[in-house]
Amino acid sequence: MTRRNFLAATGILTAGIIAFPRELFAHNTSPVITIKNAAGKSPVSITKLKGGISMIEGSGGNIGVFAGSNGKLMVDAGIEVSKDKIRKAMAELSSKPLKYLINTHWHFDHESGNSWVHQDGATIIAQEKSKANLMKTIRVEDWDYTFKPLPQGGIPTILFKDEHHLKFNNEDILMNYYGPAHTDCDISVYFPHADVIHVADTFWNGYYPFIDYSSGGTIKGTIAAAVSNVKKIGSKTIVIPGHGPVGDREQLIQFSDMLQEVYHKVATLKAQGKSLKEVVASKPTSRYDPKFGNFVIKGDTFAYLVYKGA
Ligand SMILES: [Zn+2]
Repeated sequence: MTRRNFLAATGILTAGIIAFPRELFAHNTSPVITIKNAAGKSPVSITKLKGGISMIEGSGGNIGVFAGSNGKLMVDAGIEVSKDKIRKAMAELSSKPLKYLINTHWHFDHESGNSWVHQDGATIIAQEKSKANLMKTIRVEDWDYTFKPLPQGGIPTILFKDEHHLKFNNEDILMNYYGPAHTDCDISVYFPHADVIHVADTFWNGYYPFIDYSSGGTIKGTIAAAVSNVKKIGSKTIVIPGHGPVGDREQLIQFSDMLQEVYHKVATLKAQGKSLKEVVASKPTSRYDPKFGNFVIKGDTFAYLVYKGA
């Protein structure tokens, strides 16, 4: 048995000791800074979906908006720097008061706008681990960035563990915790009457996803979340992904298949004792790169993220 095989067999080659491969992340500045700057310049656009639900794009993660006779609800708040543009888009959708904000997970490109949304009148709802993450300093190694706690006003006040219902406007909105997936606190938000679901960053429509190992995400959990999304969604359900255009069940299936195939390839090579460098050099994502590799996470980076948890 070679030393590497021995290490692999004994489980010593685990996530914690795989060094951050700077050569795979071709950036000098943290992607967090790049994404913030892009949001500062980007316009926001509104896509109207169904039953008073719309999607706002252009500020990091996709924002869901539900407008009805009792007021407005947001699913995620985007990046703080886009505040004025999002406020304007919200006003265009409805003049009713803003009542609720649901956080899909703790990441800055979904929740750094929490404070202004709260100031504008929203009560914030989240899975309990989202709150814990938003209240502490977290270093996300693969983003090369350390996040500070949000100010008090941005901290969620209605919390749940596995499942939560909110009756608002004409909907009985259902929130479900995935278990560890993209982070340790991802939830879905389903509007049964409209048959629209926001699946947070468990789905990047047409892109390789980021997996945040620093806050409890794993490739295995990411696959489990994708499989559960496919199971719970109907052929007519409208799917708001964390990133990318509005999607459907067919696109969720393609995403889930891609995750599973890349995982299988990478895990097989890792079990044979191949190093991270060897696995990345073998281009395990090549078949999917033209479709999924054109955003923040390129094929090599995704291979690394999968290797880390395989
Ligand atoms: Zn995220």
